[in-house]
Amino acid sequence: MIYLDNAATTQMFESAVDVYKKYACEKFFNPSAGYNKSLEITHEINDVRNLIKKILNVKSGDVIFTGGATESNNLAIMGNKRNGKWEYVFSQGEHPSVYNCAKELELQGYKVIIVPLDKNGEIDYNILKTVVNNRTRLISVIHVSNETGIINDLNKINEIRLNYAPNALLHVDGVQAFSKIPLNIEKFNIDFYTLSAHKFHGPKGVGALYVKNIEKLKNIIFGGGQENGYRSGTENVPGIMALKNAIENIDIEKNLELVSRLNDAFKLELKSFDLDNKISFIKAQSPYILSVSFKGVNGETIMRALQDKNIYVGTGSACSSKKLGNRVLESMGFDKNSIKSHIRVSFDYTQNIEEIKFAAKEIYFTYKDLWEKVK
Ligand code: PMP
Repeated sequence: MIYLDNAATTQMFESAVDVYKKYACEKFFNPSAGYNKSLEITHEINDVRNLIKKILNVKSGDVIFTGGATESNNLAIMGNKRNGKWEYVFSQGEHPSVYNCAKELELQGYKVIIVPLDKNGEIDYNILKTVVNNRTRLISVIHVSNETGIINDLNKINEIRLNYAPNALLHVDGVQAFSKIPLNIEKFNIDFYTLSAHKFHGPKGVGALYVKNIEKLKNIIFGGGQENGYRSGTENVPGIMALKNAIENIDIEKNLELVSRLNDAFKLELKSFDLDNKISFIKAQSPYILSVSFKGVNGETIMRALQDKNIYVGTGSACSSKKLGNRVLESMGFDKNSIKSHIRVSFDYTQNIEEIKFAAKEIYFTYKDLWEKVK
């Protein structure tokens, strides 16, 4: 199998599975129990919080463990609902776990502004500047787009916030960035940052929300008061400890270089066959994700044909693939036909150039066969 859908999820590391098992079967104690074995677990979980803060490059603030990024995003957004004149700002490039929170806020009567993307796929900074003001409570943006691999400029967004929206808090959905690109959350004054373990070889159903100033947030789940009251429910100890193991296995700079080489080799190989220029790529800063368009053929059809060859690619966000259309590509100005012709290829540093080149060749010839049928 050649798996090129690593933005949807990754295979859990064996070492993370071992750690998961250890905390499910041996060190299975409830951290809230109060005896020494449970206190030990509490300390170990706190070490994971510190490790996450180290990767984020922050010295202060809290880390709340959640049941994944969807929950972290909901907590950051719905936990910032306040009465009064407050306004909420999002981009058209958001993952459904953010975008649908925006829609829900709107239904509940809050003022919500959705900023379009520019033609490069970043939030339109010029429009952002004009829609924020001193009533803006929250600006929520994706860091690396799960559809295109495009990186929003957090420095620019922070500058806009400081100059035009002095009361606004900044939430960043960092799911496709954490552990993949170097992060400097403190430098850009980020208030909330979301991550999810299954995107970097950890388990599914565990994530975290970094919070700069916990007093600014309200809990959205009510119960026994775990996670300092911000996320009630017995902690997913095996998941959190396996997340730690997954992080420890990662060398961001080295992997970035490796994946850049895979991405370049893939594009070069694919284009070497494409003599009449029917294939194009969306230019993105993250080498982990590549959106490819194949003139005249439906991306879904290519995806299905490839699965018969044991090659797996995505057709946009796995979480939204059942919905028609693609809000993100539409906002970048792609027309409906071109949007349908996209597939998403997402790489992992555990892969090698040979398999990537082989996949590129297979993808080309799969496309060519389909094109011959439709042209
Ligand atoms: N945000 C982004 C950018 C994502 O790519 C995903 C996963 N597709 C999520 C949020 C949701 O993550 P989870 O599966 O952990 O809920």
